[in-house]
Amino acid sequence: MPTNNIPVSAIVRKRVAHRASYICEYCLAQDEGSFIGFEVDHIISRKHNGSNEDSNLAYSCPDCNRNKGTDLASIDWNTRDIVRFFNPRTDIWAEHFRLSEGFIEPITVIGKVTVDIFRFNDKIRLPDRGIF
Ligand SMILES: [Zn+2]
Repeated sequence: MPTNNIPVSAIVRKRVAHRASYICEYCLAQDEGSFIGFEVDHIISRKHNGSNEDSNLAYSCPDCNRNKGTDLASIDWNTRDIVRFFNPRTDIWAEHFRLSEGFIEPITVIGKVTVDIFRFNDKIRLPDRGIF
């Protein structure tokens, strides 16, 4: 099966950003005032032949997008199960995470692997959420 190498159009990028209210759909960082432009993430990466359909796109800060890369899942080392990442199109953020004094805490296994791999709570990212 060929890899999807078709770029996401500017119109679609704008629509995805607007749908997300210009907030990273993973870590909730706000695009406003960001020095580095936010990106449109393929939830199922193009490497895995994910489409350019709106249902496969998420608005993402550069940190989340870079840390996720082309990955789709990680490993829960307690059970050794492969666990998919949080999907902003089909999951509800508050069912997998909660904010606690600026830290994003997982409340499900999906939340746990997403927090770990996306590195939501790296020290360098905390000032974006009001933690210094
Ligand atoms: Zn993010």
